[in-house]
Amino acid sequence: MISIACDICKKKLDEVITDRTFFYYANRSICEPCKDNLEYSIKPTVRNKEPFSMEWYEKMVRDSLDKAVQKGRI
Ligand SMILES: [Zn+2]
Repeated sequence: MISIACDICKKKLDEVITDRTFFYYANRSICEPCKDNLEYSIKPTVRNKEPFSMEWYEKMVRDSLDKAVQKGRI
């Protein structure tokens, strides 16, 4: 059994299923609720970004994750 803690909320997750109950984003391990919150929080920014680039997007996700890890929440 693999047990991993979410980098953001620090919740312990048992018997994780990668990409279903647990995700790796920019070298961070995050649980599903935190992933949903992250996506929700960056959506307005992504929607208004013009021109959009993948490079910009990935950097923004990384920065948001770094901030969330420091704060302990999204
Ligand atoms: Zn979490």
